[in-house]
Amino acid sequence: MKKYTIALLPGDGIGPEIAAEAKKVIDVIQAQGNAQFECTEAAFGGNAYLQTGKAFPQETIEVCDAVDAIIKGPIGLSKEESDKIPVDEQPERGALLPMRRRYDTFANYRPVYLPKALAHFSPLKPEVVGEGIDLLMIRELVGGLYFGHKERGTDDSGQRFVRETLEYDEGQIARILHVAFGEAKKRKGILHNVHKSNVLLSSVLWNEVLEEVAADYPEIEVKHIIVDAAATALCLDPRQFDVMVMENMMGDILSDLGGGILGSLGLMPSACVGPEKAYYEPAHGSAPDIAGKGIANPYSMIGSVALMMETSFGMTEEARAIWAALEGVFAEGFATADLGRGEGAKLLDTASFGDKVVERLAG
Ligand code: NAD
Repeated sequence: MKKYTIALLPGDGIGPEIAAEAKKVIDVIQAQGNAQFECTEAAFGGNAYLQTGKAFPQETIEVCDAVDAIIKGPIGLSKEESDKIPVDEQPERGALLPMRRRYDTFANYRPVYLPKALAHFSPLKPEVVGEGIDLLMIRELVGGLYFGHKERGTDDSGQRFVRETLEYDEGQIARILHVAFGEAKKRKGILHNVHKSNVLLSSVLWNEVLEEVAADYPEIEVKHIIVDAAATALCLDPRQFDVMVMENMMGDILSDLGGGILGSLGLMPSACVGPEKAYYEPAHGSAPDIAGKGIANPYSMIGSVALMMETSFGMTEEARAIWAALEGVFAEGFATADLGRGEGAKLLDTASFGDKVVERLAG
């Protein structure tokens, strides 16, 4: 039997609540007998800082270095709580960006998926959402503005200033584009390139590199769209998109819009893949507004387990079964609080949703 090691980082806010449901799913897959998973829990994010003085403590680094894959809950504190922590140790700067840098997880896969049977969750009109939504956003995750040179200071006239640099080299651009073309090849053969070359020089280089990489994929039709227009188009007609590729910050923002057109960020899992290691996380934050209430939607975290099963362990059948179980629970008429806006929805709390997924997987 195959054995895999997993680091489970529950995170902050709703993180521990949805991570518990992810763990139930990992356990039920193990119980089916095709693989054994050794899960080690470790502190990461705001809670880790409060316990140890470090948002990404050395002990957690060692756990993550040693495992086959990492699954993490969202991290982050409310603005008020975050402001009490030194800027460099605030959860994203102190934990998330260092994790991405350490494992060079440059390829972020963010599926924006709502099957026809669940189209009623979308706030878009039925004639727009039609047969459902099924697109894949590929976000570059370790370059651009988030990782460029940063400087704060006071100038000669006494004014405070800040400088943040949007940096990419051609190698960084080429490797994410190869990932995107590869995904487009597996899907419908259409790739939307999201850019801002009318203003940003970084997008001019991005598009030049795209022309070069595209030569390796003559069968793929490339469509260029400016990021602001892409935001509108995602609301007006998301069905025109299949695979979309974009730089880091554009992907951060547009993928939350993706959650919006599905009906909730709770429907957004993601995979962050590097050359040697991948980690998996919901695309959303720690939702301090609902933390501790037991009402968070664990789909994003359980979907991240499905992505891990497939991408890190090659367990395609198990991944497919998890997606089917997630959809099946909703298709029975159940909803979590974030989605249960319509009349007649049978609302499930976080743990009950996880239990129903597990029942389906076990059954
Ligand atoms: P958020 O994504 O946490 O929440 C936005 C809205 O979506 C909230 O109303 C929240 O209740 C809802 N929501 C999100 N996930 C949900 C789920 N699974 N079920 C039901 N509702 C859900 O964004 P925010 O409030 O701007 O950020 C909160 C914290 O998260 C901040 O500290 C931010 O820095 C951090 N953050 C972390 C990550 C990460 O860990 N990768 C990503 C984004 C934001």
